[in-house]
Amino acid sequence: MEMIQNLWSDADATEYISRYHNLDLALRIYGSRLLGQEPCLALHGGGNTSVKTTEPDLFGIETEVLRIKGSGWDLAAIEPVGLPAVRLEPLLKLAQLEQLSDEAMVNYLRGCLMDSSAPTPSVETLLHAFLPHKYIDHSHALAVLAVVDQTDGENLAHQAFGNRVGYVPYVMPGFSLAKAAASEYRRNPLVEGLVLMKHGLFTFGDTAKQSYLRTVDLNNLAAQFVQKNRRIPVFISRSWPEKEIGHRADIAPILRGCLANAGKTSNPTRWILDFRRSDQILEFVNGQQVADYANRGPVTPDHLIRTKAAPLILPFPEASNLPEFRRETAGAIADYIERYRSYFDRNNSQLGKSKSPLDPIPRVALIPYCGLFGIGKSAKEAAIVADIAETWIEAVSAAESIGRFSSLDESQQFAMEYWSLEQVKLRALSEPRLSRQVVLITGGAGTIGSAIGRAFAREGAEIAIADLDQGKAGEIARAIKETALGAACDVTDAESVRGLFDRVCQRFGGIDVVVSNAGAAWPGPIATIADDLLRKSFELNFFAHQLVAQNAVRVMRWQETGGALLFNISKQAINPGPNFGAYGIPKAATLSLARQYALEYGRDKIRVNAVNADRIRSGLLTDEMIRTRAQSRGVTEKDYLSGNLLGCEVTAEDVAQAFVHQALALKTTGDVTTVDGGNVAAFLR
Ligand code: ZN
Repeated sequence: MEMIQNLWSDADATEYISRYHNLDLALRIYGSRLLGQEPCLALHGGGNTSVKTTEPDLFGIETEVLRIKGSGWDLAAIEPVGLPAVRLEPLLKLAQLEQLSDEAMVNYLRGCLMDSSAPTPSVETLLHAFLPHKYIDHSHALAVLAVVDQTDGENLAHQAFGNRVGYVPYVMPGFSLAKAAASEYRRNPLVEGLVLMKHGLFTFGDTAKQSYLRTVDLNNLAAQFVQKNRRIPVFISRSWPEKEIGHRADIAPILRGCLANAGKTSNPTRWILDFRRSDQILEFVNGQQVADYANRGPVTPDHLIRTKAAPLILPFPEASNLPEFRRETAGAIADYIERYRSYFDRNNSQLGKSKSPLDPIPRVALIPYCGLFGIGKSAKEAAIVADIAETWIEAVSAAESIGRFSSLDESQQFAMEYWSLEQVKLRALSEPRLSRQVVLITGGAGTIGSAIGRAFAREGAEIAIADLDQGKAGEIARAIKETALGAACDVTDAESVRGLFDRVCQRFGGIDVVVSNAGAAWPGPIATIADDLLRKSFELNFFAHQLVAQNAVRVMRWQETGGALLFNISKQAINPGPNFGAYGIPKAATLSLARQYALEYGRDKIRVNAVNADRIRSGLLTDEMIRTRAQSRGVTEKDYLSGNLLGCEVTAEDVAQAFVHQALALKTTGDVTTVDGGNVAAFLR
């Protein structure tokens, strides 16, 4: 358990004051961001902070307000609008009540906002309001959690913190917790903070600096306590099997496919994976008792919403027997779902059957000698889950090193997971048409390739851009989507193509759509073209497509969720042009290749289609080429480009849309989509 650094700088604080003008708010923003940028304190929207200050109302009367983090904001990037102002006086009145439902509380909080369009104040608003301090910081400090997430938590916590803090037994966030915290504070108003058992830490102070420093101090006090009292090693590892472990690029698509097909008879429901591995993760997942300590719940209630209470624990993936690993994985997921459903039924019937079940799919998978996978609807969500899982492992490992890790009991877990306020946060929004799908595009940094990448990204897909030039691939990927992968690949090199598919599987867990798009043209009369040029063209415009297709089928068959294998074949494959034989002939072979794959892999639900496009301004048809061709035909450039039945220029975006359409057309295979504005000579027959 690491100590954390005190990052407060008076110079930075002064800079915030000059930037935000309002002194109280500027320092609140500065302190909040310091807290938010330390993953050991707050992660992905976790934690909250507040300041009590005054603001003029419409009549110019200075009004006491609590500025508190609004829901949906992350401390690391908080801005004034992320700290809505709530009138303090009516909040304090609530302390007279005995009980208050979450819904009534949230409704009341919104009614007390100075600006009715502000984000909803944190569910911990009343806890901040009922304490008298000007500045308050709430974090899920990992070192503190290691000490308080214990069967013997009160005792260990007293040993670690003594009288410097007050102790609040576990209560779910909301009105009751606010009252419990306030009454604990009143017992000893000299404390620097409150430790919330099985939840986290509150510190407070007259200044933002004092409150922040107390968080750092108390976290480090806990870290030192763990350091001093820990046993090493924490977990006894299972002995390393005498077998070779499967490659992660093979394991991931198997897991991803089993998750997609779990309990399904019709269309699969796909997930995106995010892999993590470190010495600490390996010690945790390799432990003999992993099924025990990993099943004891989250380290703080917040995490449960993202990770569910229990991980999926998988067996050792033996390289020489991956089909067995697949059977075991499918079985483990079926068991998981069964256990999750009975957990739901058991707890829901105690609550008068008032809840509807969430999906029963695990969000964290642990694999011995391999690592962990975060599971999410998008790469972004999977990464958040994996981040939380990593901190969970860190805190559980530290807790186990000094005692026995203990979390919320089952009914507390259920109450949190099915908490109406949290359910609202996760309410399923309608997903884009290709969300949860991974799309790989070769030649992805070119004009057409990057247009394809952008078009698929707009449909919600995860994107991998492959190109000869790593720098360009990375640049295009970053421009398309934060989570997109840019990878170097020479599609004419078998090892390079295999490496590309491995990278994509390691990054996202698998592949669903492959657009085999890379190509280049070498013009010249066919009777006299240099033999090596024709062969070179066949390498790129035919054999490379075969390498890509082979790998796509390999991964898609591991997943058992079908997929789309799409080829850019050009008009030349169907309607040859003079001096373009070296390009058109291998493209014609690639059209046959597509049909062959469609024929042989339809039973695997792999759909294989091709796009036949013509006269697209791109790296293949440069502005210079357009100029000379137009001149040689005696027409303007515009007329050359729009010389088709529809009389309009066809763009890279039109080609991209054709590929998107093919990816979505679930009952279409062996098809060629023409994108040329209409050309009678190139009609398919
Ligand atoms: Zn909290």
